[in-house]
Amino acid sequence: MEDSLEIKTIAVLTSGGDSPGMNVAIRAVCKAAFAFGMSVYGVRRGYQGLINNDIFRLTSKEVGGIIDRGGTFLLSARCEDFRNVEGRAKAAENLKAHGIQGLIVIGGDGSYRGADMLYKEHGIKVIGLPGTIDNDISGTDFTIGFDTALNTILDAVSKIRDTATSHERTYIIEVMGRDAGYLALYACMAGGGDGLLIPERGYNIEEMGAHIAQRFENGKLHDIVICAEGVAPAEKVAEELKPYLTKKEQNEMRVTILGHVQRGGAPTAMDRILASKLGYYAVEMLAENQGGIMVGVESNKLVTYPISHAWKYKKHISEKDFEITMALAK
Ligand code: ADP
Repeated sequence: MEDSLEIKTIAVLTSGGDSPGMNVAIRAVCKAAFAFGMSVYGVRRGYQGLINNDIFRLTSKEVGGIIDRGGTFLLSARCEDFRNVEGRAKAAENLKAHGIQGLIVIGGDGSYRGADMLYKEHGIKVIGLPGTIDNDISGTDFTIGFDTALNTILDAVSKIRDTATSHERTYIIEVMGRDAGYLALYACMAGGGDGLLIPERGYNIEEMGAHIAQRFENGKLHDIVICAEGVAPAEKVAEELKPYLTKKEQNEMRVTILGHVQRGGAPTAMDRILASKLGYYAVEMLAENQGGIMVGVESNKLVTYPISHAWKYKKHISEKDFEITMALAK
């Protein structure tokens, strides 16, 4: 690999599941690149765009007016061909034809794996930026999009609580997060949930049933249970809770699956700040000729790790935060 080469031309793409704040990160990458005297290209539809040569010059014009727009104007996609040696070779060929030496990949750990291969096989300096609402990437306290999704959930929980109290109902609210319970955990803590089911703590329906039954016995008239999609479908949870409840309580149980509404919306201030910092820092790392790394923020400090950190080290939810959430849900 040509390690002494000064990086003057870079590209940016978004890959895998989209998340609010990706546009902010693209904007930051562009503006930072100009500040470092680099040219920058955008790639449409993630790795598919690399293979299809859907690569175009970005200027200030393209990234104007997008800071408050959810989604990604570069479009995101999943690309099976990039999993093959031939697909990645074609991608590298197209990048090199444009003189692109560094590539910033905004996505999840799947996208990072692809990026790492491009780095190892073809010497393209890749930097991974954590973009996912699931917050399941290690090497960073938070991922871009998590805070926005959490706020969307909180808004929904408040609205559901209004009707839950009016009708004295139990609501099981299913939230996203894939195999991780971060969204559910913090939605329960910040949304005043009465029960929580997350994959990190297994599926203990007996405990949950006893908890809800006790709350009703204590005179509570409604319940909000936050259920992470990774633990069990909310419909199944509702069905299995029934034996623990009275006939009336069973009849008044409802399920709400929030779904893809959690992936959209204008990014929150926290996501905009995170995406701006990480976008800038990723370009700074390329200016220092680094590659094969991911960038993150830990304890309010910008950090880097080898990109493989994302899949070699599983991120763990905070024991203390779980303890606090459960104590307050009683
Ligand atoms: P995310 O980045 O959100 O985790 P995916 O896991 O779907 O999303 O990965 C996005 C894309 O990254 C895939 O469609 C594929 O092109 C690429 N990718 C994922 N895993 C690998 C891998 N092991 N090798 C090469 N490319 C991969």
